[in-house]
Amino acid sequence: MPYGERDIIGELLLRNGKKVGIRFFGGRGGGKKRKSSILELGHLLSIELAKEKIRKREILYKSSEWSLTWAHKCVRHNYKAYTFLLFYCDLLRTVALEDDLFLEGSSSMVDREHEGIFRVASNSTFYLDQSLKEEKTSLEVQLLLFLCKLLFEMGLAPRFKECVYCGRSLTLSTVGKIIYDQGGMTCIECLESSFKREHIRSISQEIFRFIEKIWCLKYSDYEQLRVPSKKVLAELYQYFCFHSQMNFNKQKYYADLLFGGNLKH
Ligand SMILES: [Zn+2]
Repeated sequence: MPYGERDIIGELLLRNGKKVGIRFFGGRGGGKKRKSSILELGHLLSIELAKEKIRKREILYKSSEWSLTWAHKCVRHNYKAYTFLLFYCDLLRTVALEDDLFLEGSSSMVDREHEGIFRVASNSTFYLDQSLKEEKTSLEVQLLLFLCKLLFEMGLAPRFKECVYCGRSLTLSTVGKIIYDQGGMTCIECLESSFKREHIRSISQEIFRFIEKIWCLKYSDYEQLRVPSKKVLAELYQYFCFHSQMNFNKQKYYADLLFGGNLKH
């Protein structure tokens, strides 16, 4: 966000997976040194931070020294990929906690509890760019990976090994339905008869197949994944929102492009 004549106020996701508000002095570039601005969504930066002020319990940091560590090359030139990146950033800033780096006795940068959020941010941006360079896979695969990896890293992924009601082990042919408030999947035996029809189960079966596969899939092996349907992406996203107590209408702006009108209102 532009601030003053040449400053930018923004949010940073730190390596520890938490976020801070920051003012970049001269962040908009230009000035006497005609510096170009390298402050972009999805860029990896090395920054010297100092605390600026606390207002109404909000802490703002400041920096006048930063350098670029990594930048995406293709995402900026593809509107769909750029919208994906906006969606990633929007979701990550909603789930990341505020950090206080100068809190006395805090060992915040060595606190590893939330670093999975940073891992998802950096991998999803890198491979979004990579998949554009290689032109091999659909961008929907990247969105699928982003949602599943985030669910796993936050410990919210649906339980898929046993039925949430009776404990029987699940396979693709015995899986019933994903049940949001039970945090997992049922077997077909435990489904009410109205849900047993094949077309109702098919989305849950597809999710089962993806979750099982992505559970032990390295990000770099994304080419092994089939292209997911928008219905599957919408279901995973709504499941995520349910468990992180987030209103999915907040991201309404992206809904059509990402989920093709499949979000249930
Ligand atoms: Zn069961």
